[in-house]
Amino acid sequence: MKVRAGGFISQCPQVGTSSAPLSLWGAGLLLQFAANLRVPPCVTGLAWLEIWIVTRPRTMSRICVYSGSSFGVSPEYAAVAAAFGTACARRDLTIVYGGGSVGLMGALADAALAAGGEVIGVIPRAMIAEERAHKSLTELIPVETMHERKQRMAQLANAFVALPGGIGTLEEVIEIFTWLQLGLHLKPVGLLNARGFYDLLVQFLAHMRDEQFLTSKHHSMLAVSTDAEALLDRLTSTMHVHVPKPVSHATTNAA
Ligand code: AMP
Repeated sequence: MKVRAGGFISQCPQVGTSSAPLSLWGAGLLLQFAANLRVPPCVTGLAWLEIWIVTRPRTMSRICVYSGSSFGVSPEYAAVAAAFGTACARRDLTIVYGGGSVGLMGALADAALAAGGEVIGVIPRAMIAEERAHKSLTELIPVETMHERKQRMAQLANAFVALPGGIGTLEEVIEIFTWLQLGLHLKPVGLLNARGFYDLLVQFLAHMRDEQFLTSKHHSMLAVSTDAEALLDRLTSTMHVHVPKPVSHATTNAA
């Protein structure tokens, strides 16, 4: 297994950075101090500060949220989206999302902003013109195309989560999961399985794994939880390593 820190990850300093040379420098200074060598106190202080910087818990600063532009059949979905927005704000997690004011997307953004959180929307210009963009976001980034939007959202965020939604949400989360499988990024990806909404998808992904179209390792990289806090805990503490997708040259498994 090989750790890759290229692609999108290099643009997100909280994930995948290595400070090993710095910590060796700090540890070396402290050792000299312990060995009673003459190291000025200010240098020792700097060494402690550096060791703290290197070893402090890393926080995930931005989470990309995919969710429906509709409300779904039950008011529970909007409540789930709002609770997720509030939970992100309480954790100082900036939300990156599609920039819409409608459906669960709007409920998510409204709740996060009301709780004092930051929300960045990335939206194609054509959609702004149709007045579907949220008007009160921390930042609204206009882009030209849907593809550019997805790439921009991927660059801006350190983790990705899908709340319940339609085919737009499904397409976005499966694409970012595919990019993880390919090692194009190593950021955590998850599903908030509220009301068991993703049960059938979870079942289908297990079927894909059982039929050997998805490796167990890649399958297990997708975090799934019915609980927003538990999911955020998992996403904020996960750092993936690249697991290359096996390439089979045989025409069948039996060959
Ligand atoms: P869907 O799940 O089909 O409702 O599509 C929602 C996803 O597609 C969101 O994650 C957005 O990125 C994008 N999207 C669809 N409709 C809109 C809209 N009216 N405004 C902004 N983004 C949208």
